[in-house]
Amino acid sequence: MGEEQTTGVVGRGNEEGARLFREWFAGLSEAAEAGAGAAYVFVMGSMCELLRVFDFPIVFPEINSLQTAIRRVAHEYLDEAEDYGYSPDICGYVKADVATQLRGGEHPMGRIPKPALAVYTNACNTYIKWAEIWERMYGIPTFTLDVPGTRSAGGQTQRGDRDFENDLRYVKGQIEELIGVCEGVSGIKFDIDRLREVMGHANTISRAWRRLLELNRARPSLFNALSEGTIYLGVANGFRGDAEGARYFEDLVEEMEYKAARGIGTLTDEQYRLIFVGVPCYPIFRRFNELFTEWGGTFVNSTYLWFASGGTNVGFQYDLDRPLESLAEGVLVTVRDAMDSMFFQTNILVDMVDSYEADGVVYHPIKSCRTVSTGLADSRRELMGERDVASLFIESDMMDRRVVSEAQLKNRVDAFFEGLATRKRQAISASLREKE
Ligand code: SF4
Repeated sequence: MGEEQTTGVVGRGNEEGARLFREWFAGLSEAAEAGAGAAYVFVMGSMCELLRVFDFPIVFPEINSLQTAIRRVAHEYLDEAEDYGYSPDICGYVKADVATQLRGGEHPMGRIPKPALAVYTNACNTYIKWAEIWERMYGIPTFTLDVPGTRSAGGQTQRGDRDFENDLRYVKGQIEELIGVCEGVSGIKFDIDRLREVMGHANTISRAWRRLLELNRARPSLFNALSEGTIYLGVANGFRGDAEGARYFEDLVEEMEYKAARGIGTLTDEQYRLIFVGVPCYPIFRRFNELFTEWGGTFVNSTYLWFASGGTNVGFQYDLDRPLESLAEGVLVTVRDAMDSMFFQTNILVDMVDSYEADGVVYHPIKSCRTVSTGLADSRRELMGERDVASLFIESDMMDRRVVSEAQLKNRVDAFFEGLATRKRQAISASLREKE
């Protein structure tokens, strides 16, 4: 073990993240055993800040589903849902959740409590149809929070613009309505001071998330956005607005600053800096990442850490003196940003390529998430028009191992790195010629 590992700082975020996850699922299992009804939410606009005020156990069905793939049992859940009648082509997360519900909440990490309420935004149209399944199964109330998206690339409105102010009023009105629904379902009266406290923790996490992404511009990069970043992302979502989550992120920033100051990278020999676009390949999560790291390639950032954090990358800070209005503003700004990082991503990618000094961009469209995958081929062409950067386009799935071919992926990834090596050699020769 190297000197750095013995300090207890390096690698702490990975270990603590795994511990928090185990504890979170243990808490959900306890809630399920006690028959408590949970709030079912999604990563893009989870509304955790508000739901914690009413003491709901919070369930992220997307995270439960991806965990079945990481633990290599997703196919059992997918088969069960398909036998029940769901089509092979719909979102794999939905089907794994349907099977979880059919099994009475049985999940490889514990037992998932039944929903008492579902809250979701329009960031993905599947969210809306998914919640209708629980509505039919359990007769629970569902709440769609309609967040106005950006109308055109680069067309974001800001505070003070008439459109923004109208959108803000629209979102705030819906949040007020949601408070009434939560009071009715939980039997707990809304407490604005409790909301302030939760929003304060959410502020800490948002600030830290933004800082982490900035810190990873370091050479060598400090964490791999695809592997370690996914652990951090899980905590950012699952512990949003939670005191322990806030402490975790303060420690994580400390760890990354420690690594940056000492030049400790996630790889001992970083050769290529990559950007990832899309959703990870969870059925072979570790191996998929190794296909890149074996060549000295690491992911310095990804669109996933943007949209799947619900726009936490913006680092939005709530004004605790006017919590409700500020919550509405934060939801509008962050959920809109999450949608932008799926639908209007060219400018974001150009900026990532420049500021992270990326050597290549890896596009990973997947069969069962059309929200994220549609248009990626056009997005790639647009980026190539803006920057002379190598790119790779590989297709598989985030849940369904039937469409994941490790051998084919490896062939494509290997060819990509051979191309990157050629580019590097050519760049070195060109700079030597210039010096002559
Ligand atoms: S379609 Fe994609 S974004 Fe929507 S719920 Fe499924 S995985 Fe998530």
